Amino acid sequence: MDQVNNLTSASVQALPIGIANVSKSYGAVGALKNVSLDIRSGEFMTLLGPSGSGKTTLLMVLAGFIRPDHGSLKFGSEEMILKPPHQRGVGMMFQNYALFPHMNVFANIAYPLKIRKRPKAEIDAAVAQVLETVQLPGYQNRRISELSGGQKQRIALARAVVAKPKILLMDEPLSALDKNLREQMQIELRGMHERLGMTTVLVTHDQREALTMSDRIAVLRGGEIAQIDAAEDLYNAPKTAFIAEFMGESDFLPVTTTQGQTLYRDMSLKLASGAVAPEGDGLLVVRPEKMEIVTPSFDRTAFNVFDGILERLLFQGESCLAFVRLPTGETISVRRNLREGTKSLFPARGESISVGLHMNETHVVNSDLGR
Ligand code: ADP
Ligand code: MG
Repeated sequence: MDQVNNLTSASVQALPIGIANVSKSYGAVGALKNVSLDIRSGEFMTLLGPSGSGKTTLLMVLAGFIRPDHGSLKFGSEEMILKPPHQRGVGMMFQNYALFPHMNVFANIAYPLKIRKRPKAEIDAAVAQVLETVQLPGYQNRRISELSGGQKQRIALARAVVAKPKILLMDEPLSALDKNLREQMQIELRGMHERLGMTTVLVTHDQREALTMSDRIAVLRGGEIAQIDAAEDLYNAPKTAFIAEFMGESDFLPVTTTQGQTLYRDMSLKLASGAVAPEGDGLLVVRPEKMEIVTPSFDRTAFNVFDGILERLLFQGESCLAFVRLPTGETISVRRNLREGTKSLFPARGESISVGLHMNETHVVNSDLGR
């Protein structure tokens, strides 16, 4: 029975979103510049980017609180641009979309159904059910002031989804929570999305949160979409240095590619078979956790090996981070999980060390850091 219900609800509760050529300016500031983005039905899409990149503006366009200067927005096949927010059928959860402090949990969650004038029995059942979903069953009569930060977020989430929206919009919903609770809520939100199945758009500036939760991530920069990809592809195959740097720890080494051959100084780099680096000047992306420590018995065949000096070794709990200074003066870092014997792989400070990057993980990008 439950399974049947879940299947039915998953299939009815999603709509694709089509954003086409959306622009919005504030005076001379182009907050959104000709943004186009198709979000699939039931997809968890994250808008990721630094502060001021246009994430909130785009979400507000979806919600209907901002009318763009140009462009089209479709939910399914229906054009939405002229529709007011309350006719768009979306659920919303914003950092500043506070609960009503003078109402109890029930009244807060019931609110979207009350304004839709649903019958009392239906409201009671829906509130009880959504409290199960956010794992706070029986909390109907609690006062908002009696809840912890995490419980308040769950009630805000319950209120956002109680009317079974086909689309859920969230703007930095977890940013007020401390790290542990935030990580727990990320997993819960992801689980809830899998159970309920609505198309979900999350705004965050936290790349790890984006990687944890999303099917796909759209990275915004200066009001434009810099790259859209599945989380893993964005991390492993960033198109530019900006994306590589934004998505996680990375060092960059300057390389030049001529006629398909990529050189770092006078060292010819092995790339994945079939891969070609962009012609001309580029940057090799060096992610610390992808680097191997090359011992005398190490098979170097498939690796690009860099010889250097161990400049510093940092203990960071679950892992350690080594800084390796290359003869060229550049420094790359190498991260190793700490297990029995791992630390002894590193020589003493000031001694020689060789580190290797597998050719399948050797990724060259355009340099756009200074743009
Ligand atoms: P984000 O959510 O990624 O931090 P926003 O969408 O809030 O970015 O803002 C994008 C750009 O538009 C920023 O440069 C911001 O200063 C500007 N902006 C946003 N809202 C307004 C407004 N109401 N008036 C003027 N400028 C605004
Ligand atoms: Mg914002």
